[in-house]
Amino acid sequence: MAQISFFNTLERRVMPFESIEPGKVKMYTCGPTVYNYAHIGNFRAYMFEDILRRTLEYFGYEVKQVMNLTDVDDKTIRDSKACGLPLREFTAKYKAAFFEDLKTLSIEPAAVYPAATDHIPQMIKLISVLMEKGFGYQAEDKSIYFSIDKFPEYGKLAHIDRENQRSGVRIKNDEYAKDSVADFALWKAWDELDGDVAWDSPWGKGRPGWHIECSAMSSEYLGDHFDLHTGGIDNMFPHHEDEIAQSEAASGKKWVNYWLHCAHLMVNGEKMSKSLGNFYTLRDLIGKGWTGREIRWVLIGAHYRKKLNFTLDALGAARETLGKFDDLFNRMRSVDAAGDGSEVAEAVKGAKEAFANAMADDLNISEALAAMFDLQRTANRLADGGKLTKAGAEQVLAAYRDFDRIVCCLEVDVIREQPTVPAEVIALAEERAAARKNKDFAASDRLRDEIAKLGYQIKDVPGGKYELTALK
Ligand code: AMP
Ligand code: ZN
Repeated sequence: MAQISFFNTLERRVMPFESIEPGKVKMYTCGPTVYNYAHIGNFRAYMFEDILRRTLEYFGYEVKQVMNLTDVDDKTIRDSKACGLPLREFTAKYKAAFFEDLKTLSIEPAAVYPAATDHIPQMIKLISVLMEKGFGYQAEDKSIYFSIDKFPEYGKLAHIDRENQRSGVRIKNDEYAKDSVADFALWKAWDELDGDVAWDSPWGKGRPGWHIECSAMSSEYLGDHFDLHTGGIDNMFPHHEDEIAQSEAASGKKWVNYWLHCAHLMVNGEKMSKSLGNFYTLRDLIGKGWTGREIRWVLIGAHYRKKLNFTLDALGAARETLGKFDDLFNRMRSVDAAGDGSEVAEAVKGAKEAFANAMADDLNISEALAAMFDLQRTANRLADGGKLTKAGAEQVLAAYRDFDRIVCCLEVDVIREQPTVPAEVIALAEERAAARKNKDFAASDRLRDEIAKLGYQIKDVPGGKYELTALK
C-alpha cells in the first residue's frame, strides 16, 4: 500500500498516515446543520472529504465514513419556529435536499448519516459519564456545563493559550469565538425559546448542546478511538476542541489520530457564508445552467488547505476544460490504427505515477491535475501526428478512468452528442478532402479558411479522414 501523508491539524505538520487497523479507515465528518439549503461553501468541505475518502479508497483502504446531521441546535430551533413548523418536519425538507445535492455533485455516500434527534439517549449517557468523572457540573439555570479547567489538554487542537483562559465563565451558545473560551454547554435546560423542543434527562427537561452530538454519535458508530476527523477550518474552534475535551475526558484516552480541516470557499475576499449573504446554493447554480460535474471541477481544483475564490468565470473555465477532455475521449474512441500501444505506454505510466504520488502527498490536487493535462497533450500530439494506435488510445482511456475514481467528473465513457455540424460546413469539408486527394493544396487551404469563418476547425487524421470541431 502506498505511503500516504496528511497535514494533521493537531500537530500542524504533514505526517505519514497509519491506520489503526491495517487496510481500514474509520472517518467522522461533521455534517450539515439542516436548517437551510447547503451553500457551495459547505460543499467545498464535503467535497474535500469526498476527495479524501476516494483517495484512501484509491490506495486500497476500506473506509467507513460517518457523517452526522445536526437536526437540533440553536439555528434549527430558531428557524423552525420562524416558519411555524414542528422541528422534525422543518429539518426533513433540508435533509432530503442535502442528499439530492450530494448526488448532483457525485459525492460518495457515507456509511451512516446519524441524526442528532435519534441519538438523545446516547448523548445523555455520555453526559452522565462526564458528570460521574467530575468534568460536568450543573449551573443555576439547570444547564450542564463542561469544566475546561478539569481537562488540562483543553486547547490542544486550536492551540489556545491557557494563560488567558477565563475559568468558571460559561457560554451557552453553540457558536462562539476563541476570545470567549469558557465552560461550554453539554445539556441546555429548557427555556421558552425552545418551544416544544425538549427531552427528559436526569438534569431536567432540555436539549443537547451541539458539541456533544458529534462526540456521542461518532463513538456510537466508530468506537472511542478512530483514525480521521474532518471539517471546515471554522469547525476547529470551538466545535472540534470541545468534541475532543468531551470524548477524551469520558474515555480517558486519545480519541482521534488525524484531524484534517479545509480552508474556506471565498467570495471577493470574504468567507462564503449564510450570515454574510454572499452565497450560492447548488440549486442556484444548477438553475443558471451549470452542471454538477462543472461545479465539482471548480470545487476540487484548489488544494484543500488553500482558500478558493469562487467566481462564475471559474465555472465557464470548467466547462471549457471538461469539454476538451470530452473531445479527447471521443478522439481516443475513434482511433483504429493497429499496433501494440507502445507509443504511449511510457506517458501513461508516468502520468499514473505522478497522479498517485501527488494525491498521496497530502492530496496535492494541483499536481495530480497537471499529470492529467500532460497526458492529454501527449495523446493529442500523437493523434495529430497519426502515431496513436487503438491499443494506445485504449491505454489513455483506461488511465483517465483510473483518475476519475478520485476526480469523478470526467465521465470518460459518456458519449456526448456533438453539436450538429451545419450541412454547409460538411459540404466544404468534403470539397476540401477531394482537393487534398488531388494534391490541390491551395484550394485545400482556402477551404480550411472558409470553414473557419463558419466557426469550425478542421483537422486531418490518417487515412484521408478529417475531424470537425466547433471553434470555442
Ligand atoms: P454548518 O452547516 O455551518 O455547520 O457547516 C457545515 C460545514 O461546512 C462545516 O464543515 C463548515 O466548516 C463548512 N463550511 C461552511 N462555510 C464554508 C466555506 N465558506 N468554505 C468551506 N467550508 C465551509
Ligand atoms: Zn461535529
